[in-house]
Amino acid sequence: MRRIVIKVGSHVLTEEGSIALDRMRALVDFIAELQKQDRQVILVSSGAVAAGYTQLQLDRSRVADKQALAAIGQPYLLKLYQSKFAHHGVLSAQLLLSADDFDSRRRTRHARNAVEKLLEHGVVPIVNENDVVATEELVFGDNDRLSAHVAWYFQADILVILSDIDGYYDKDPHRHSDAKLRKIVHGIEAEELDSECTPHGRFATGGIVTKLQAADFLMRRGGRMFLASGFDLGDVRSFLLHGEHRGGTLFVGERTVGDSEE
Ligand code: ADP
Repeated sequence: MRRIVIKVGSHVLTEEGSIALDRMRALVDFIAELQKQDRQVILVSSGAVAAGYTQLQLDRSRVADKQALAAIGQPYLLKLYQSKFAHHGVLSAQLLLSADDFDSRRRTRHARNAVEKLLEHGVVPIVNENDVVATEELVFGDNDRLSAHVAWYFQADILVILSDIDGYYDKDPHRHSDAKLRKIVHGIEAEELDSECTPHGRFATGGIVTKLQAADFLMRRGGRMFLASGFDLGDVRSFLLHGEHRGGTLFVGERTVGDSEE
């Protein structure tokens, strides 16, 4: 059985300050479909701050206010997910983690035991950073790096990042109309990892660089990452359900290339 971590960014999950319920429903339907095909799915979801903002309009430019919004929004977000998964008779669960949890072997083992138990029972673990005690991803990252840790330490076969962009281009496609999609990436240069982050929305942090850092973390360990659009799930659906690489970018080290062509 293949284990998949799917990370969805705040741009995908929100629309003009509210939760984009139709996109959330499409994502949940897709995960339920993957489960029917015997895949185990762990979802890493952003969107708690945006969900909190729909309930109380605090100042999103301050970290403490964002933490408060995340605390308000997280249970609200989970309630939405739980009711959507319930339509498929699927249970979902909340896991609040921070990067530090993966620094400790004991804590990683505890978290892994819980995840294994949930997956064994067909439950979808929904992971987010524990923003009240750890602010790294809230400030910078939007869960991209956290999702790479989740994929690696919970032994997933692949990390899928669903973004507002449909793949990795040779330059920022929002600024250059001649940007070309890179379908397969075998390695990332140091300067690509260091370049200035270009988040372009009030709720998004990290931009493409944190996605490249996530891909680099996994590729160095023999893992794989697929970056695709979260607005239109066509490419990720073809890739995961039919093994067809139509669009999206696959990050895979040279050593593991053979495995990707299943
Ligand atoms: P999300 O909110 O989905 O996690 P972000 O908006 O934070 O995603 O990051 C994706 C954005 O990064 C794209 O919309 C794009 O404008 C920008 N970007 C900069 N350089 C590139 C590139 N080379 N390829 C793709 N996207 C890029």
